[in-house]
Amino acid sequence: MTQTYPIDLEPVDIEPYREGNTGIPFMTTFDSGGDGPHVMVMVVTHGNELCGPIAVDWLFKQGVHPRRGKLTLGFSNWRAYQSFDPDDPFASRFVDEDINRIWDVSTLDGDRNTAEMERAREIRPLLDQVDLLLDIHSMTTLCEPLMICGPHEKGRQFARAVAIPEYVVCDEGHIAGKRMRDYGGFGDPGSPKNALLVECGQHWEKRSAQVAHDVMVRFLGHCGVVDADFVRQNLGDSATPKQKIIEVTGPYTVTADQPFTWKDFYVGFEVIEKAGTVLGLDGDKEVVTPYDNCVLIMPNRLKGKGHSAVRFGRYVD
Ligand SMILES: [Zn+2]
Repeated sequence: MTQTYPIDLEPVDIEPYREGNTGIPFMTTFDSGGDGPHVMVMVVTHGNELCGPIAVDWLFKQGVHPRRGKLTLGFSNWRAYQSFDPDDPFASRFVDEDINRIWDVSTLDGDRNTAEMERAREIRPLLDQVDLLLDIHSMTTLCEPLMICGPHEKGRQFARAVAIPEYVVCDEGHIAGKRMRDYGGFGDPGSPKNALLVECGQHWEKRSAQVAHDVMVRFLGHCGVVDADFVRQNLGDSATPKQKIIEVTGPYTVTADQPFTWKDFYVGFEVIEKAGTVLGLDGDKEVVTPYDNCVLIMPNRLKGKGHSAVRFGRYVD
């Protein structure tokens, strides 16, 4: 079943940030000159996700400067973002391939050449210096915002410290390839580096811009890189509910050549009571819930062979 959504957000102009100051286009690092973590806010990992650049554009315009450590603001797949067309809004997710599935070291060191591989290799030396990362995203379907904190306890603690959004998803990522959130030390339980990926809502939903803003401000506050007064003044009015933690047991990866067909319209976080409930068709194969009280996470349309149509999980908290 397909569904389209109105474009209620206006893309911001990121051209003023092209030059930056790092030698890498669309990457700007502010240096306090003092000790402290190197903190990064990354946006437009996917080119049709408008909330992140709105939040970071706002932050630039506040004249933000770190009081300790370093703060880098980056626009990942800027080429894809600059091709955004409201008349064909799904088309600008990437240029050649998903830049958030190529962060395996073997892939980065390999010989594949696409617009995204080139960009990832360009960003990599800077990313290697980052201690704490927030990667801001949005979703294809209308769904409650969620934080993706990876499979390790350190990610879970980071998500709790930021305190919003309500839903926290602990997962290993995708079979299709490694996300930036899981790259290097971020994905190593023994490393002090840490990363969060926030999904702020549907791509063009007004609320997603507010969620991106509020999560970013709380993230910066927790990392201690910006003034506490700045954080207090810009917290927004988002409540900090008791967070719901969901452990992902695995994705359902599409095997047929055609996109997965859903039996019903799911938006995410539905709990399907009975194991064996039919969710949809992968080619002519029925796909069912693997266990009782299975939570559906980010059910996706338009997902073809080798990609995650949905992830299955359980509430643990
Ligand atoms: Zn995304």
